[in-house]
This record gives sequence, C-alpha cells and structure tokens, in this order.
Amino acid sequence: MENRRHFIKNGLMLCLGAGSALAGGTALAFPSTGTKRWGMIIDSARCSGCQSCMVACKLQNDTAPGSFNTTITERESGTYPNAGIRFEANLCRHCTDAPCVSACPTGAAFVHESGLVMTDWKRCDGNGACIDACPYEARFHDIRFENKTDKCDLCLHRISQGLVPACVENCSSGARIFGRLDKPEGEFARYLQSIPASQQKTGAVFIIAADKKGGR
Ligand code: SF4
Repeated sequence: MENRRHFIKNGLMLCLGAGSALAGGTALAFPSTGTKRWGMIIDSARCSGCQSCMVACKLQNDTAPGSFNTTITERESGTYPNAGIRFEANLCRHCTDAPCVSACPTGAAFVHESGLVMTDWKRCDGNGACIDACPYEARFHDIRFENKTDKCDLCLHRISQGLVPACVENCSSGARIFGRLDKPEGEFARYLQSIPASQQKTGAVFIIAADKKGGR
C-alpha cells in the first residue's frame, strides 16, 4: 500500500535516480498506531476565522492547488442590529461506516487500524466515486497526480511520531482539540463528554457548532 505522501516522494526519488535509496527506506506508507484510536473535536465558538489551520495543512501536506484538506468558511447570520459572523470548519469526519470506502470500486479507500479512513494511491485510479459518495465534500482530485483523490488523513505521519496534526498545532485559538477516543484525557475528554454517545460512534472528527455544544 502506498499513501499519497509516499507516492509523491517515490516519484521524486525515482526522478532523481535514487530508487535504490528508497527501497532501503524504513518509513511505512501507513504507519501503525497500534490499538490507539485518534480523534479531533473542533469547537467552532473558539474559532477566530484566521485560517491558520488551512495554511498549516497546506504547508504540511502540499495539497493540490486550490484544494484544501480542511477549510474555514465565513457565514453571516442574523440581520441588523443582530447580525453576526460565524466560522464553519470542514474536513473528513473519518466516518465509521464511510460511504467513500463502500463506494470505492478499486479498494483504494480503506479503514486504517486506527479507525481513520485512508486512501491507497497505488490502487486509486481517480474514478471519483469516493468524491461523489462523501456527504461532506471532503475529498478532491489531485490534478497533478492522475486525478487521484486526496483528503485529510489527520496527519497520520505526525500522529505516529507522537505529534499532533499540523492544524491542531497551529490553531492560535485552541479551537481544535486532539486526543485518543479509546483513552480520552484532559480537555479532549471534557469536550468528548459534551458529544452524545450516539454521535461519537459515527466517526472520529466532531465539529461543535458555534451556537451549540454537542453538534456534529
Ligand atoms: Fe469518507 Fe467523506 Fe466520511 Fe471522510 S467524511 S470518511 S471522505 S465519506
């Protein structure tokens, strides 16, 4: 199996004539996180709309031009004199019964041992069925690589090294809270308690709307 990151790296290495060095590499395409199950909660009420998460993700993951693994959209609400602006985050929810996985005809979209939904770029032929199936519009084609599909992988390569996802690390208002779903602790555990148990079963990423706690 080969994830997007390795696919690109392999291509670059081969272009440089360094295929033999790559063959001896030790990095795994889809690193193991053992039995740990990771998740993220976004508290929209904390989001200031600075879009640092989008920039950090773009710098970390080099997504296709014009496409983002995570977005922040500004929404107007109310009318004068009670007008306001709220910021809506969007990204892959890493659904438990992921429609993209069941729709993928090549088996490229799959569930990793961590419960996160991944895409094997060796199998992906860019047919786009997963993009059509996703109810959150979280997937997109990478026009640079045969239209293979990309999306947030919760920075698995960072998680496996004990780091938090790039968007979490760079959120200046602490709106993105990362932790273990199988062993929640601290602030992550407190937030998780506000999310109904039925919703916790639906995926690994939960977005709490600015006007309510416990939304998805
Ligand atoms: Fe797949 Fe979309 Fe669910 Fe992510 S949010 S797992 S891309 S269906």
